[in-house]
Amino acid sequence: MNKVAAAFGIQEALDKLGIQTVNNGTATGSDNFASGEIISSYSPVDGALIATVKSTTKEDYEKVMEVATKAFAHWRTVPAPQRGEIVRQFGEKLRELKEPLGKLVSYEMGKSYQEGLGEVQEMIDICDFAVGLSRQLHGLTMHSERPGHRMYEQYHPLGVVGIISAFNFPVAVWAWNTALAWICGDVCVWKPSEKTPLCGIACQNIAADVFSANGLPEGISCLINGDYKVGEMMTSDSRIPLVSATGSIRMGKIVAQAVASRLGKSLLELGGNNAIIVSPDADIKMTVIGAVFGAVGTAGQRCTSTRRLIIHDSIYDKVKDALVDAYQQLRIGNPLDENNHVGPLIDTDAVALYEQALQKVVDEGGKLIVEGGVLQGEGYESGCYVKPAIAEADNSFAIVQHETFAPVLYLLKYSGGVENAIALQNGVVQGLSSAIMTNNLREAERFLSANGSDCGIANVNIGTSGAEIGGAFGGEKETGGGRESGSDAWKVYMRRQTNTINYTTELPLAQGIKFDL
Ligand code: NAD
Repeated sequence: MNKVAAAFGIQEALDKLGIQTVNNGTATGSDNFASGEIISSYSPVDGALIATVKSTTKEDYEKVMEVATKAFAHWRTVPAPQRGEIVRQFGEKLRELKEPLGKLVSYEMGKSYQEGLGEVQEMIDICDFAVGLSRQLHGLTMHSERPGHRMYEQYHPLGVVGIISAFNFPVAVWAWNTALAWICGDVCVWKPSEKTPLCGIACQNIAADVFSANGLPEGISCLINGDYKVGEMMTSDSRIPLVSATGSIRMGKIVAQAVASRLGKSLLELGGNNAIIVSPDADIKMTVIGAVFGAVGTAGQRCTSTRRLIIHDSIYDKVKDALVDAYQQLRIGNPLDENNHVGPLIDTDAVALYEQALQKVVDEGGKLIVEGGVLQGEGYESGCYVKPAIAEADNSFAIVQHETFAPVLYLLKYSGGVENAIALQNGVVQGLSSAIMTNNLREAERFLSANGSDCGIANVNIGTSGAEIGGAFGGEKETGGGRESGSDAWKVYMRRQTNTINYTTELPLAQGIKFDL
């Protein structure tokens, strides 16, 4: 272990998570059967190689599907509240391991330690939610039009659920899916991002311990590793009735078509281009805190990060000055050091995309009012640290229409009524998160109305990022339309069956059709 990792106790965290790194750095854990090419996991924090992981070959994948399918045959017969009890134990284990797992998330992905802990807390919260839900997977009872008949619907487990996740929420997105899928009676095969494979192994180890302590089959939770080619094994596999995929719009379009071509179901959680409308009636102090956290938190690498601020012309200069001032206070550096606000981007490819975005906004006629730049020197050796930037721009710019996964905030001006701001907010292909800062009830209600925001998430006097697990999470348009986590999102993990029972000696047909023999 190098200096940074040693100072922040990374080896201890790996030990507690059951990740053993042998001499050449290869990680071992419950990464079901992997025997393929080596994936190296480098930390964006200090550029160090944390460990290597073996990827899943086609043959390995077949073995995984065999154990998963076999496990499903058993798991679906376990009563849902008992499945809930297993998820409760899993949540308890996460409570015990919150610190090491939060630390690994921070070191492998680069988000702040606080946000790493927050991610594990989200896992715990969804487990609690799922435990309660395990006694509430209820369908409706309907009145039959035929005498002496009873009609109702029930929800049954779906089968093997495939989960493909992105690097930026390397553990929580898996838990949003698995906690619900497990109480629904499904088994899960997970392909984490190839950029954060150790987080995958850590989660798999925790789940495997709980299942084995309860004498349950290992295949209820399976892990496969690798890049898009391993993901494609699942999208093309008709043994997987549901593929839940989180990532870029580019990926989602490919996954959606592959799954649809075999008439499978996909749950898509894709990119956003989120805006906050700042009305003349906004509380400026709250606006600045919400906008800065939304734009620079997780170094702008949240699907719900604030990308656009749509500011009324009457307060534009005031908001702009306050933002520029706030950006001067930002401390950029090691995310495990709690004094820093902004950590690194995931890798140097992301840094290149950030630099291109800054160039493009200028080429299209925009103006950088907080210049960005790549940081170099002591503490920035990984080459992944960038300065958050702000540009004055126009909603029509191609680069503004595009989701750049980095801390680049575009300021857009509107005049007239809130409907003009809403038109700008909706004037992008993505539809994930949106917000309005206003103390004006009419504006707020207009923003939330049917001709208001077209996003899956619409907030008033809160920024665009940081959702709670109790609500359904997801977005419209090219964000993919999926819903995960709270509310009735569980229904996607089950198949619905309508049952009609005839307890008479007659056989009347529906719609009064006569068929006498
Ligand atoms: P990505 O699209 O590059 O990769 C995401 C995952 O998809 C990875 O596991 C990758 O291996 C896999 N993948 C890529 N191509 C595939 C294919 N053809 N078939 C099967 N699997 C494939 O995304 P990323 O860079 O890891 O994450 C950032 C993106 O994710 C951003 O666009 C962000 O907005 C989005 N995201 C969305 C949400 C949400 O809930 N809406 C949450 C987190 C991240």
